[in-house]
Amino acid sequence: MTGIYNPLLVCLSLVVAFLASYTAVEVSGGLNALASAKRRPLWLVGGAVSMGVGIWSMHFIGMLAFSLPIQVGYDFSTTAASLFLAIGVSLIALATASRGVLSYRRLCVAGTIMGLGVAAMHFTGMHAMQMSPAIEYTIWKVALSVGVAIAASMAALWLAFTLRASDLENLVVKRLGAAVIMAVAITGMHYLGMSAANFAAGSLCLSGGKLDANWLALVVTATSFTVLVGTLALLGFHTSSLSISLRRANRQLHYLGTHDALTNLPNRQQLSLHIAQAVDECARRASPFAVLFIDLDGFKSINDSLGHGVGDDLLQVCAERLRQDLRHTDMVARLGGDEFVIVVENVAEVSSAVAVANGVLQRLSQEIVVNGLPLRVSASIGIAFYPRDGGNVDELLHSADAAMYAAKQSGRNTFRVFEPQMNHTALKSLVLQRDLHRALSDGQLSMSFQPKFSVASQSVTGVEALIRWRHPELGEIPPLEFIPIAERSGLIVEIGDWVLQEVCRNIAVWDAQGLPAICVAVNLSPIQFSVPDLVARIDALIGAAGVDPCRLMFEITETTAMQNIEKTSRTIEALQSRGYTVAIDDFGTGYSSLGYLQRFRFDQIKIDGSFMRDLDDGGQRGSALLSAVVTLARALQIEVVAEGVETESQFRTLGELACDQVQGFLLSRPLPAAEFLAFLRCAADRIVATERACATPTA
Ligand code: C2E
Ligand code: CA
Ligand code: CA
Repeated sequence: MTGIYNPLLVCLSLVVAFLASYTAVEVSGGLNALASAKRRPLWLVGGAVSMGVGIWSMHFIGMLAFSLPIQVGYDFSTTAASLFLAIGVSLIALATASRGVLSYRRLCVAGTIMGLGVAAMHFTGMHAMQMSPAIEYTIWKVALSVGVAIAASMAALWLAFTLRASDLENLVVKRLGAAVIMAVAITGMHYLGMSAANFAAGSLCLSGGKLDANWLALVVTATSFTVLVGTLALLGFHTSSLSISLRRANRQLHYLGTHDALTNLPNRQQLSLHIAQAVDECARRASPFAVLFIDLDGFKSINDSLGHGVGDDLLQVCAERLRQDLRHTDMVARLGGDEFVIVVENVAEVSSAVAVANGVLQRLSQEIVVNGLPLRVSASIGIAFYPRDGGNVDELLHSADAAMYAAKQSGRNTFRVFEPQMNHTALKSLVLQRDLHRALSDGQLSMSFQPKFSVASQSVTGVEALIRWRHPELGEIPPLEFIPIAERSGLIVEIGDWVLQEVCRNIAVWDAQGLPAICVAVNLSPIQFSVPDLVARIDALIGAAGVDPCRLMFEITETTAMQNIEKTSRTIEALQSRGYTVAIDDFGTGYSSLGYLQRFRFDQIKIDGSFMRDLDDGGQRGSALLSAVVTLARALQIEVVAEGVETESQFRTLGELACDQVQGFLLSRPLPAAEFLAFLRCAADRIVATERACATPTA
């Protein structure tokens, strides 16, 4: 007994197969990039149901397309079983295609399970016809169809996995193409399987045949269309709402990166940009401008005696007063602490800048009431002019700072215009530059170590190495002061080598004591990062010390990374291919775009400490941003470390935001080598060894 095919229904089955395949590719892409950890299982199951319904419908319509000369029907429970098989198979497929990495082994295992599952669905579905005598199968055709099912499944998994990344060019076209290939493969398997079935002459169908095949096909098609299109629409909605919130977070990040959180004034970065623009402008239109460096007098003692809360309120009021009476072309920025800068444009004469300075002194000296306390502050102001006192941002700020210092010296609550002999800062940096050479050879440098902790378990996840300089006369010089000087003189490369050697030496000490293999993060300055043979240099040092590369992580800042995007990508990959891990440092203070996180394959993001303050204030700003970064980082499988965590409440909020790790004074300050060794001994049973810490995939 031979059957015939209804060509219309065959086409319909192909269309349904295509739609199911397309849904599968989209859902696995969505799972990878968008779903937060909480919603993931929901999407996985939902996606599997719609994909399963799709595959099964394709198969069922294919069966309906085939008509025998006798009445044919389908047993309900067997048909339902074949539907559940299809959904189960889809679940395996989606879970596989949306996970971190697809090894060949996993591809083979998952592909085989999926192929066997599809075949099982098919033959279970055929069994629902309950033919008597039973259908006889041509074994080689069955084997061939199972083989095709397995091959098709592997191809489908591989395609879905590869097309997950949402930043590929022509993504939609590629996904459509993949769906066509998958649809043809699935349908091919189905019709091969059908052709393996031989129906004996005079066969009877025991499940009866009351329903019209065309009608059934219509119902099944309509249902599966609704399910699949519904899934795609939901996914589209989810994607666009997430991309909207990402865009919002991005804008927020940009604002936070360019503005001071306390006063809402532009920050140092924004100020630098503004001055650089003014310099350009002046070159074109010969319009000199002035930079006023303002430092409040006695602010530190108010802060220390009345508390940070009062100090913060005071700064906000001062910021407001500085803003008053300025032209819209002028800018007020906060450099940090109690330091502010005003840029006054178009000042042809010294007297107009002096008038602005006098106005500021007068406004600031008025009484301020904070918490019912009447307070009085004054300020010291230094004035520098472009181009007379400096040709670029740094020089101008240096000169204005030197003039401010002179104003302080002459009794405060006044201003001074820059004169060359005031350049004490330049003098100090000359002294430091001279002494830095000796520091290296005389053993004045040392390393401190600050541990990082898991938020969930409080175990130690790694440690950051921080350099220290004890100057014989000037005492402790902070790295933020001498690293820039070392960078300018080029000495940073030598210092960087010394840091690496010192870190390796300490690792050897810890290992000799049998302590767990902790991963040590080393900071790389932009100058070090741009040395042409950086990776070879590091390799040579590490090799000589006999340290395993997986023990080291390198931290670079956003600004460093963005200097040369191509080269940065290559360097990061080179470091990772040798077993080192790479972190992005001070995240949120530089370029402030979430987009480039996708571009570089960082292993870790360190969110700058300045964001922690917002968490304390209970402000939505900080936490909204942090949660956007955590969500994105999770999707990209990057660890998130919050820096500068100082209070319990910050720590608690970070836990709620599902941040992975923290570093900060709350849990440990940077410790000198000997103290850190003692710390490691105490914490030995709470240390995450790097074999595990570095085992996270880097590619
Ligand atoms: P960084 O890489 O962002 O290092 C973190 C800084 O924050 C350290 O300052 C650390 O002592 C401080 N810190 C840690 N926890 C807290 C906290 O809870 N609150 C506050 N307010 N601060 C906290 P440090 O040691 O003064 O280093 C400053 C910067 O100097 C570093 O910033 C890094 O950029 C640079 N640096 C330090 N050591 C090295 C080095 O060996 N090589 C290079 N190239 N740069 C280094
Ligand atoms: Ca760092
Ligand atoms: Ca940092």
